[in-house]
Amino acid sequence: MSVRTRFAPSPTGFLHVGGLRTALYNYLLARQQFGTYILRIEDTDRERFVPGAVESLLRMFERVNLLPDEGPRLADGIVTQTGDVGPYVQSERLPIYAEYAKQLLGAGAAYACFCSSERLDGLRKQQEIAKLSTKYDRHCLNLPAEEVLRRLAVNEPHVLRLRVPEGETSFRDEIRGTITINNAEVDDQVLMKSDGFPTYHMAVVVDDHLMKITHVIRGEEWISSTPKHVILYRLFGWDAPLFAHLPLLLNPDKSKLSKRQGDVAVEDYLAKGYLPEALVNFVALLGFNPKADQEIYAIDELIELFDLTKINKSGAVFDQAKLNWMNGQYIMRKTATELVALVRPFLDAAGKTVDAALLEKICTIEKTRMERLTDIVAIVDAYVSVPTFDPAILVWKKADAADSRANLVGIRDHLSTVDETVWSEIAMVESSIKAYIEAKGLSNGNVLWPTRVALSGRAASPSPFELAWALGKDETMRRLASAIVEI
Ligand code: GLU
Repeated sequence: MSVRTRFAPSPTGFLHVGGLRTALYNYLLARQQFGTYILRIEDTDRERFVPGAVESLLRMFERVNLLPDEGPRLADGIVTQTGDVGPYVQSERLPIYAEYAKQLLGAGAAYACFCSSERLDGLRKQQEIAKLSTKYDRHCLNLPAEEVLRRLAVNEPHVLRLRVPEGETSFRDEIRGTITINNAEVDDQVLMKSDGFPTYHMAVVVDDHLMKITHVIRGEEWISSTPKHVILYRLFGWDAPLFAHLPLLLNPDKSKLSKRQGDVAVEDYLAKGYLPEALVNFVALLGFNPKADQEIYAIDELIELFDLTKINKSGAVFDQAKLNWMNGQYIMRKTATELVALVRPFLDAAGKTVDAALLEKICTIEKTRMERLTDIVAIVDAYVSVPTFDPAILVWKKADAADSRANLVGIRDHLSTVDETVWSEIAMVESSIKAYIEAKGLSNGNVLWPTRVALSGRAASPSPFELAWALGKDETMRRLASAIVEI
């Protein structure tokens, strides 16, 4: 049987980083097993529906390059669908659920419930006061059959509830092992709402069956719903898929990662200058690491090494510092030309114009120090105009102001005699400066420190050779001269 996985988001807003991880794991398993990865939109909760959310989800999946084999896609901004067992948007499948609901009703596995929300609220309150588990009391299951028919005939508003059978329900979770629950603890779940829409529980089971899903990989928050789903599979006479419930994502203080504690939307991370491939790599390791001594994985490696059974049971801490480091690793691996294209939109947004040739040089020498693409906005300032800085930092820790000044004068005099062609390569600038230091019998630190600070205005920066190369001869001379005046 070929593997079929799915990611089934509800379009209630943005794609959460936890959702990205769920989607990714489903995608990895499908790719590894030469199977099919499906995207299904679960939009049956009309109250929570957010217009534009589907488009935004699809756009995010395009950005992170996790495209489904079947399901909705964006073509020129319009939602279209691919695949044979769709539609993949639940609100377009209502007759299907109605049909299966009828089947359950006919078999006595579901029943109509006419209880008002006031009655249900009152019941819940009573149960809470009595410290009982809050469950429907089957009031409508005990109504005489003729009364039910009569009330249905006049279209009295009602829902359809699952009639949970007696006994126990067991299922195997690929991450947590076998889970068994006494059916007495399971509520008679509403399957069809009074507006004719199915609930999540009904729709998810029908769709996973009809879409021939073999593995349901989803967040831990759904684990308590799974017995209801397994009961439904049994009542329908269908085989249940394999289940894997992923550990929660936690803040470093072990609280649940939530919107309140900062941005958790993939969109926000991209806007903050994280690269899609770094985010994917990072979320892949939330709860799973195939090798103890490796953190950077290309998507093909993740596909090869993915193993559901190796996912941790305990919550995965979302470590922002690690994400920053990892993003820096990905930035470092870009060519300067690639990086120019990536950082340009951030500069545009900040209203900064930087000449293309200069920006390429800046990217060449600064990419090892960047953690986020947005870092470029502050970085370019020092290249575009002479930075203001405290002249005290021109003095190397093993020297004094007089020494630093003398060395700045020396290097300025030397560089003023050097041909402009030397500026065409970092290595040529470097050998020229190093040859000067050696010929004069000077020490590297005494010369290179003040030179570097004079050119960058920063205590930590790329090397003076890189800076001189990026700035060009004229600007290099100008900055050295002004540092000599300042010190
Ligand atoms: N629609 C559910 C959600 O929003 C999907 C849960 C599942 O994967 O079964 O997360």
